[in-house]
Amino acid sequence: MNADLHCHSTVSDGLLAPADVVRRAHANGVELLALTDHDEVGGLAEAAAMAEELGLGFANGTEISVSWGDDHTVHIVGLGVDPADARLRDGLAGVRSGRDSRAMRIAAELARVGIPAAYEGALRYAGNPALVSRSHFARYIVEVGMARDVKSVFDHWLAKGKPGYVRHPWATLEEAVGWIRGAGGIAVVAHPGRYRLSTAGTREFLAAFKDLGGEGIEVLSGSHGDEQAREFASIARTFGFLASRASDFHGPGESWVDLGRVPELPPDLVPVWTRLS
Ligand code: AMP
Ligand code: MN
Ligand code: MN
Ligand code: MN
Repeated sequence: MNADLHCHSTVSDGLLAPADVVRRAHANGVELLALTDHDEVGGLAEAAAMAEELGLGFANGTEISVSWGDDHTVHIVGLGVDPADARLRDGLAGVRSGRDSRAMRIAAELARVGIPAAYEGALRYAGNPALVSRSHFARYIVEVGMARDVKSVFDHWLAKGKPGYVRHPWATLEEAVGWIRGAGGIAVVAHPGRYRLSTAGTREFLAAFKDLGGEGIEVLSGSHGDEQAREFASIARTFGFLASRASDFHGPGESWVDLGRVPELPPDLVPVWTRLS
């Protein structure tokens, strides 16, 4: 089954409109797609309608930004959520409402290192102050010629520890898992290999996630190498997590992996899509 259960549209920091994400997934041979915009469900109706037109399986999703421990940001994907659920919608709106003031703080830090007008620049890419993300800053910084591509902007300016990084309180893990479960969804840890947690810290985080009712983990992610895929397959077995498969596609030319172009899950794992109807 070519399932791709994590990707982005222009409703967050992706480059394609929701319907175009679905068209591209279909052209790439995806059989089941979940759109998972950051802290948003606003693209799901458009994506679902296009999926229906093309006969492509579709699951509603979102990717919630969460603060964990001592200034770690982790992402929790919700699959099969009801986008009309009031508690989920209110929760996501609360998370988004912090993005504008965070963007102003990022811009102030960037101005100190010689990159002026970055708030206005990023907002032009985002189109909406509640959606401004570091990806939009990265596109602006490439535009003004301060970096050759988005990835190097993160390496020089936006990653944790770099001049344009600011601390920000996102949702708590308990809130994110609670909103997802309350909306009938399955909570899945996004790209666990991306977090700079120690081995013990990773286990502590996953144990807390499981205690709260979290059920899945992205074993295969566009940001995992082969070794990480093996590591998180093993963790899925140990914790009894459902396994997800995810490109985390953001747009042509800007993503490590295109829609649906993710390896197969190890056959002994239980795929999370067996629980999506
Ligand atoms: P934000 O939610 O504003 O913190 O932005 C996070 C987004 O930035 C992620 O969802 C990715 O799309 C992007 N991102 C984070 N780290 C990198 C990186 N090293 N290279 C490229 N994009 C990144
Ligand atoms: Mn993103
Ligand atoms: Mn993410
Ligand atoms: Mn993502």
